[in-house]
Amino acid sequence: MKYVGAHVSAAGGVEYTPVRAKDLGAKAFALFTKNQRQWKSPPLNEKSIADFKKNLEISGIQPRHVLPHDSYLINLGHPETDGLEKSRIAFVDEMQRCEALGLPLLNFHPGSHLKKIDEQGCLSRIAESINIALAETKGVTAVIENTAGQGSNMGCQFEHLATIIDQVDDKARVGVCLDTCHTFASGYDLRTVDDCEKSFAQFDQIVGFSYLSAMHLNGSKSTFASRVDRHHSLHAGELGSAVFQFIMNHDQFNNIPMVLETIDETLWANEISWLYSLVE
Ligand SMILES: [Zn+2]
Ligand SMILES: [Zn+2]
Repeated sequence: MKYVGAHVSAAGGVEYTPVRAKDLGAKAFALFTKNQRQWKSPPLNEKSIADFKKNLEISGIQPRHVLPHDSYLINLGHPETDGLEKSRIAFVDEMQRCEALGLPLLNFHPGSHLKKIDEQGCLSRIAESINIALAETKGVTAVIENTAGQGSNMGCQFEHLATIIDQVDDKARVGVCLDTCHTFASGYDLRTVDDCEKSFAQFDQIVGFSYLSAMHLNGSKSTFASRVDRHHSLHAGELGSAVFQFIMNHDQFNNIPMVLETIDETLWANEISWLYSLVE
């Protein structure tokens, strides 16, 4: 089975997100559990947590098909002690929010070296950050997202993801989220069926599909291998639709949340029903 949805707004409280997803015809969704542009937010209150769980049950969407995304400020590979420490504390808080909501996944961007340390050093810091967070929480998997490789962002080569996973102690609680826009912009072509076969085979060889825990389904405004992170709607931009046809018809993508972060939310309901219509 395929489980498709979108990154819905948590305005007014996390408890409103399952309803917003359901209204789109979604069977999965993503959300921020706190303000994604602030370091600190008040803890989730008991009522909000209880209402979230109740609404999720009513929506029929399963907790494992919900993909919380962490704050954009967090850099788990930060080259400086202060920045790293601040990020690690915030990341543990993000994991604890997932725990409180009964959600087993947390999606995050690996981190950036900011041109102050080398790539391998940065990847080791990221892995150590994950180890710290996993030791302090229970039942939540750290889901590393591949990136477009903009600036000094790590995670744009499958080897980066494999190196991080290799240094994580609890391999049962680490996973990967592949973003179609980032994959394409970082230099793995997805424009034809052949390209998809080749690029996903590379992923399987270097990382392994057993680690694939989620997908972000996005069109791309950025050109191939441009290392620029600019999403587009599914029917617009440089990527074309072969990759979505491919994903919706291959078993490797079964039973994981697949979430739109496309730029026009008025199209989400249509994009979701179009994706389901591709299933042969
Ligand atoms: Zn993404
Ligand atoms: Zn992106």
